[in-house]
Amino acid sequence: MRFVPTYCPKCGRHALTSQASINGGVAICAECHATTQILPGESYGESDAGLFAELGEKLRGMSPTNAAQLAAELEGRNSAPPGRGLRRLIKLLPTLAILEFSVSDQPAVLRKVEGMLATLLGSIASSRSQSGMMAAVNVESQLDNRKAQ
Ligand SMILES: [Zn+2]
Repeated sequence: MRFVPTYCPKCGRHALTSQASINGGVAICAECHATTQILPGESYGESDAGLFAELGEKLRGMSPTNAAQLAAELEGRNSAPPGRGLRRLIKLLPTLAILEFSVSDQPAVLRKVEGMLATLLGSIASSRSQSGMMAAVNVESQLDNRKAQ
């Protein structure tokens, strides 16, 4: 069975979701049962779910602008030696260093980690306009409420 990356806008959680649980292009968050976004990118095996969730946790709370900058470090990763993009990311985000330590001798795993990070960072970066707009609307409606009172 294949697993695809998803993002839940409600609880902010990235996860790998089994294709069998996706009906009509809709996947449900295992945590809060909201509808998740299915992210573009590769599909994975069940054994990768833990790694994907761990990476998602490490990137949690990152600003979209920051994510876009980090995602740029992974551009062209498939024509570069495995691990080069990851090493560039670690310089900018030292919490990822533990990864290189555990997988540095496995080129296939390095490629996989880089692919997962590209998917995650792309997802966070693309949430920029959405969350920015929502925040602005909330502030404005609060101001309106205060004026009305
Ligand atoms: Zn959720």
